[in-house]
Amino acid sequence: MASTIRLFVEAALCDGALINLPQTQAHYLGAVMRRKAGDELVLFNGRDGQWHGRLARLDKKTASVTVLTQTREQQSAPDLWLLFAPIKRAPLDQMAQKATELGVSGLMPVMTERTIVSRVKTDRLKANAIEAAEQTERLDLPEIFEAQKLPDLLAQWSADKGGRRILFCDEELADGKEAPTIEQALMPFKDKALPWAVLVGPEGGFTDKERVHLKSLPFVTTAKLGPRILRADTAAYAALTLWQSVLGDW
Ligand code: SAH
Repeated sequence: MASTIRLFVEAALCDGALINLPQTQAHYLGAVMRRKAGDELVLFNGRDGQWHGRLARLDKKTASVTVLTQTREQQSAPDLWLLFAPIKRAPLDQMAQKATELGVSGLMPVMTERTIVSRVKTDRLKANAIEAAEQTERLDLPEIFEAQKLPDLLAQWSADKGGRRILFCDEELADGKEAPTIEQALMPFKDKALPWAVLVGPEGGFTDKERVHLKSLPFVTTAKLGPRILRADTAAYAALTLWQSVLGDW
């Protein structure tokens, strides 16, 4: 038997609801996955847990699904954002997918001085996050934020962001000494249920001015990712993984 398809939907999920799916999902279910009316699938919307559903109607352009029973309650996940300097399209797609798999609750593109990409399509980030969430059995989606300039972001941060700390990936502390490992840097925060954000720079790194500024801020914790310089995307995955193992749900 074909494996069960897991679909993200925008609509509310409740007993007996009939949900119309967009054309892209009708195409995916019919043309790509060869499903037909009567087949079962799994649904989630980021709010109402996970549900079983049955395809009520499916043709080339339209599909609808009847919501049957709830199979999982909505759960809350660790509150960890990824702040990243946008990179080229293919690695950016991958970054949104992998970060979603690794459990981030928010994805925020940050424009730094050496960021070479000038525009980020947040719709595309969202589509990638949805695809990853469908595969990874997450019940929620990361929030996708519009791109912001680093100085503007930092200026607003302490006022608006409700005490969220930034884990800044950099090799050195403000005094020029080698930065601690992520595990060492996060230990003092182990029993405090704080929201966090991992910050990694662009391929060209942060400028000295940006690094000095970041390290002067009370809500920034600096940590190093080992002795090798990692590419931006690898640095993000490594930092998210290590954060999850110290403060998250791994
Ligand atoms: N050419 C740049 C490299 C940037 S790597 C330079 O020499 O600075 C992209 C980003 O990944 C960096 O801005 C940093 O945030 C993170 N990063 C990569 N390797 C790291 C390491 N070993 N420790 C801490 N951060 C690292």
